[in-house]
This record gives sequence, structure tokens and C-alpha cells, in this order.
Amino acid sequence: MIVGVLSLQGAFREHLRAVQRLGHEAREVKSEKDLRGLQALILPGGESTAMGKIIERNELREPLRDFAANKPTMGTCAGAILLAKDIIGETKNYLGVLDIAIERNAYGSQLDSFVGQGTVGRLHDFPLVFIRAPLIRSVSASVEVIAKLGEDIIGVRSNNLWACTFHPEMTADTRLHALFLQHA
Ligand code: GLN
Repeated sequence: MIVGVLSLQGAFREHLRAVQRLGHEAREVKSEKDLRGLQALILPGGESTAMGKIIERNELREPLRDFAANKPTMGTCAGAILLAKDIIGETKNYLGVLDIAIERNAYGSQLDSFVGQGTVGRLHDFPLVFIRAPLIRSVSASVEVIAKLGEDIIGVRSNNLWACTFHPEMTADTRLHALFLQHA
């Protein structure tokens, strides 16, 4: 399978490597033409505001929105912010395809970045790496919660769209990538 990773900014290299480790072809996506022929797409973590600016500059907003509206797409951390319909405290969104409300930098300075472990879908003992993570505050009825840390929603799925607030690409555990691609 050919899997694209939005490669404008942030942790895209780690996602490319995870995809390759699973035996798939990984392709950097920097412009519209790179989306052609992809079976799935990953939007990495990084800085959503910076990525948003480059998306505008590279005229990628509509092409990414079209892709995510129909095809398997997973957003991690800042990538989840790019997918969200509602970014709390902000009047605009980026792709606005996933019916969740998300709050940027929701963990205070002490918990700015931390590592945990939890269950994601049917994956147990999954390593959870949070880096200035957002928090999914609410989801619409069509969105399934696949992971929680305490009361916090940290992973969701809605048909072809997957999103998590942690970084599954930052460890050697490729099970979440594998699960996502199994459904692609
Ligand atoms: N704080 C970043 C943002 O708001 C997200 C952090 C991340 O992707 N690790 O875009």
C-alpha cells in the first residue's frame, strides 16, 4: 500500500519510518500532486499553526480536505488539530472534517510533556507520548472514542478518520499504525 505523510513540518520522518517498518511504501506529501495514488494519509504532530500556514501557502487545504473526507486519514497531535471541526477558543479551523472539539496545549506547564501507557482500541499496554498535547473536549455521536487516559479522551475514530493526541510514531511500537492501515 502507498501511504502518504504530510511532510511540511513536525514529526513526519518518524511516521514515514513507521510506515516503512510495516512493509508499506511511504511517500512525503508536500503538494497536491503527492496525494495522487495514495491509499492512506497521516498528518503528523508538530505545530498546527505553522503547518496551517504552509498548507495555505502550498494550496493544500482543499486537496487535503477532499482526501480526508473520503480516504483513510490519521491525525496525531497537531494532526488531530488540523482535522478537527472545532478548535476551542479559535474562530477558524484547518480541514474541519472530524466532528470533535479540541483544545490546544491543554496540559499545563508541569504536564507539558509526559509519557504514559494505556489501551488504544484493542491494543493494550500501548506507549503514550504526549508533547504539548491538545485535549479532545467533546465528540459528536458519530465519533467513537478509542482511547482515554483517566477521563481524558486521547484517541477517536469516525469512519475513515482516526485521531489521537499522543505520538504513536515516537516509539518502536507500530501497532496503531498497523491497525489504522488494516482498515485502509
Ligand atoms: N502544541 C502543538 C499545537 O498546538 C501540538 C503539539 C504536538 O503536535 N506535539 O499545534
